[in-house]
Amino acid sequence: MTNRQKLKKLFAILDEIESYFHAIGKMSFDMECCAPEEGIEPAGKDMAVLGKQVHKLTHSKTYERLIRELHENNEGLSPVQKKTVEHLYDYWSKTKNISAQLSYEMDLVTNKAYGDWLSAKKASDFSLFRKSLADLIHYTRLAIDLREEKKATPYDSCLDDTEKGGSIAQLDGFFAALKERIVPLLQRIVAEGKPIREDFMSRPVPIPRQEAMSRYLLKLEGLRQSALVLMTTEHPFTTNFGRYDVRVTTHYHEDSFISNVFTTLHEGGHALFMQNEPQELHDQHCADNMTSAMHETISRFYENLIGRSEAFISLVAPKIRELSEGVFDDISDRELYEAVNVARPSLIRTEADELSYCLHIMIRYELEKAFINGEITVDEIPALWNAKYKEYLGIEVPDDAQGCLQDVHWSGYSFGYFPSYALGNAYGVQILRRMEKDFDVDAAVRAGELTRIRDWLTEHVFSIASLTTPDEWIRAVTGESLNVNYFLDYLEEKFTKLYELK
Ligand code: ZN
Repeated sequence: MTNRQKLKKLFAILDEIESYFHAIGKMSFDMECCAPEEGIEPAGKDMAVLGKQVHKLTHSKTYERLIRELHENNEGLSPVQKKTVEHLYDYWSKTKNISAQLSYEMDLVTNKAYGDWLSAKKASDFSLFRKSLADLIHYTRLAIDLREEKKATPYDSCLDDTEKGGSIAQLDGFFAALKERIVPLLQRIVAEGKPIREDFMSRPVPIPRQEAMSRYLLKLEGLRQSALVLMTTEHPFTTNFGRYDVRVTTHYHEDSFISNVFTTLHEGGHALFMQNEPQELHDQHCADNMTSAMHETISRFYENLIGRSEAFISLVAPKIRELSEGVFDDISDRELYEAVNVARPSLIRTEADELSYCLHIMIRYELEKAFINGEITVDEIPALWNAKYKEYLGIEVPDDAQGCLQDVHWSGYSFGYFPSYALGNAYGVQILRRMEKDFDVDAAVRAGELTRIRDWLTEHVFSIASLTTPDEWIRAVTGESLNVNYFLDYLEEKFTKLYELK
C-alpha cells in the first residue's frame, strides 16, 4: 500500500470516529442543557454504547498499524498531514500499554470519584473523598509507569500531557515570578488601596434583559451568528462540532448582572477560536489540537484584557444602561470600570479577580506536584491547602467545601490541568503587546471594531495553534518564548493606577 492509500484508509476511520464523537458530544450537550432529570441515566447508557464503537475503532489492528507505519515513513504527506499523524501517534504511544481491563478499572474509579466528590463537597467533609482521590492518584501513576517514554517525575508527565514541553522546572520558575510580584501588590491594595464603590453591582436585572446582553456581546466579539447557539447551564462551557456548529452556554444570576457579562465574553472567546481555525485543518483531521492553555489564552483575553479595560466599559456602558432599563442610570462609566476590577483576597477560585486569580492556581499546582510525586499523602491535603491560603492570600479557610473540595478537577484524571489557566493569562498579555504593534487595539475597542481583533487572532494565532507546541506557538506569534514580565508589568500598572497606590 502506498502512503496515499494508507492515509485515505486512516482518514476513513477518522471520519467514522468523528461522527461518533459528534453524536456523543451532542448527547452530552443535551444532558447538560436540557435533558430532564430522569432522562440523564438512560442517556448515559446510549453514550456508553457509542463510546464502545469508538474504542473498537481506535483499538483495531488496522488503525494501529496505519498510525505506526505512517509515523515511521511519512513521505509524500503534506505538513498538516504529518502533524495529524504525529498527534495520533503521540496519543497512541502513551496509551498503548493500557489494557482493556486497566482502562475499565480506571473508568470505574472516575465514575465513583465524581459522586464522592459531590457528596464530600455537600457535607464539607474531605474524608468522604479521600479514598477516591487516592485511587485516582494511584491509577494516574500506574498509567504513566506503563509508558516507554520517561520524564523526570510522574508530575512532569502530567504537565507534558496538558501542555507539550511543560515541566516542573519551567513552572516552578513561572510561579515563583508570579508570587514575587503579585503577593506584595495584593498586600498593598489591602493596606492602602482607595475604597472602590460596588454597592450597585447586586441590583437585580431581569433574566430576559441579561440574555439580550449576551447576544449583543457575542455579536460584538465577531462570532458568526449562523454557526452559533446560546444556552444556559449550571457550569458554563463552550463546545463545537467543527466550525459550523459552536455552542456557548452561560448562567444568569438576577442579582449579579455583571457575572453573565464576563462569562459570555469568556465563552465567546473560546467560540471565536472554534469558529476560526482554518477549514484545511478540519479537512485533514488536525483541528482542535491546540492545548488548553492556548484556548484559555483567548477566553481570558476577551474576558479580562478586553472586557475589563476602560475602553471596553465605555463602549458597552450605554448598552448596559439601555438593556437594564434604568437600573444603572446613575452610575458613571468610570464607576463601572472600577467596580468590575475590584481586587481582593478571596476563597473561591472561580470568583477571583484578575490579580489574585493566579495565586489560587499556584496553590493547586504546588499541592498536585507534591501528591502526584508522592511527597505528601492525601490526608495532608486539607491542612496544607489552608496553610497556603493563609500564607499567599492572608485568609482563613472556614471549611473543606470552600477549601480543597471547591473544584471539580481532582475528581477525574485532570492532574496537571490547573497551570494552563495561569499560563493563559500570561500568554494573553504577551500577545496583546505584539498586536498593539500592528494597530491601536484600545482605539479599535473604543470604536466597537472588535472584528479587527478577531481577524488578527485568526491570522496569527488560530491558524497555527493546532500545528505547534506552546513554545513554538508563542514564538511564532510574538517572536519570543513565554516572558511572564509582560503579564506582571500589566498587572502592576493597572492596579497601581486603579487603587492610586504610591
Ligand atoms: Zn475557559
